[in-house]
Amino acid sequence: MNDKLLSDRIQNVSPSITLAITSKAKAMLKEGIDVVGFGAGEPDFDTPDHIKDAAKKALDQGITKYAPASGSIELKQAIVKKLKHENGVDYTTANVVISCGAKHSLYNIMQVICNPGDEVIIPAPYWVSYPEMVKLAGGKPVIVNATEENAFRLAPEQLQAAITGNTKALIINSPSNPTGSMYDAGQLKQLAQIAVDNGLTIISDEIYERLVYDGGEAVSIASFSAEIKQNTITVNGFSKSYSMTGWRLGYLAGAEEIAAAVGKLQSQSTSNPTSFAMVGAIAALEGSQDCVAEMLKAFDQRRHYIVDRLNNIPGVSCLMPDGAFYVFPNISGTGLGSLEFCQRLLKDSNVAAVPGSGFGADANIRLSYATSMEQIEKGIDRIEQFVKKI
Ligand code: PMP
Ligand code: GLU
Repeated sequence: MNDKLLSDRIQNVSPSITLAITSKAKAMLKEGIDVVGFGAGEPDFDTPDHIKDAAKKALDQGITKYAPASGSIELKQAIVKKLKHENGVDYTTANVVISCGAKHSLYNIMQVICNPGDEVIIPAPYWVSYPEMVKLAGGKPVIVNATEENAFRLAPEQLQAAITGNTKALIINSPSNPTGSMYDAGQLKQLAQIAVDNGLTIISDEIYERLVYDGGEAVSIASFSAEIKQNTITVNGFSKSYSMTGWRLGYLAGAEEIAAAVGKLQSQSTSNPTSFAMVGAIAALEGSQDCVAEMLKAFDQRRHYIVDRLNNIPGVSCLMPDGAFYVFPNISGTGLGSLEFCQRLLKDSNVAAVPGSGFGADANIRLSYATSMEQIEKGIDRIEQFVKKI
């Protein structure tokens, strides 16, 4: 083995456990194993037809060439309109960068804001990729545990206590992957004010903003005040709201200096996101939003079913999520840690779930209910039988 082959940087990074479990479940299915996949954070619906049609038309019209590295002006204009009308935040196209997925936007943000040793506060449970992205940028992830008693929301005192002279940024993801918890406007404002008073950049990952239940509304942090807006980078994308995971399109909106820096990075790395995919994304933003409402309705039915069933399994308890399409049941009553629970569940019962340890919470596991009701029923039956046998 050549121990000089790989950089320290890549050796210090863990692979994405969400993607690993998803591909393992898909491989098992291909082998003919009847596996129920609760792993993927990926809607089971197809991309709506009007979005696909717009991209097909773009292909036929020859929109197959390089576009500006930071994204097409037309999609940026549609995003500016969306941010103004839906989120109450006024930007120009100079504030917006389109990337190959919200994941790419987040990665690029870390690359342009972190110097070696800069600390980024990440409330746990967190989406698996945040700490690794910070590490890849040379920064230091600072994990602060939001408790289940507080519905996995970071308390203002916890944020205040975690800030040091080296703190650069705070990541907020509401509604959250993996917990489905959402902050209300008052709670978010309090956190944002603490961040701004301490000179931090707020990275607000709003990718699940459209998937909110019971008539609730996700609020954009950047809409609170001019000062907060100046210090906030909003991240969003098309994967979850419009079932466009494979299209790889996401975006950020923030101060011009940030957008210019990310544009520069993209000009030397990926160049533009796929040209004809961006035309489809315009149709997603400007077309009828009925498709989002329909998906939300289906997710809501599944949410109630899955939470009720889980809470009837001895040793398992589950909070009702406010948004997104994940439940994050506590399995500590079974006596197993989350990794062993998920490994045995997959091996013994053919059910794929993601261990909470990947999200910084070993007492829990994550189940994505972005899968059919039939699969959910079958999967929960299996989990129930599995837990009984532990
Ligand atoms: N943020 C969160 C919280 C997510 O769950 C995901 C899921 N993939 C992303 C960002 C990235 O989404 P995408 O790159 O598909 O736009
Ligand atoms: N965000 C989704 C998840 O958490 C997709 C996989 C990924 O990008 O990590 O499952």
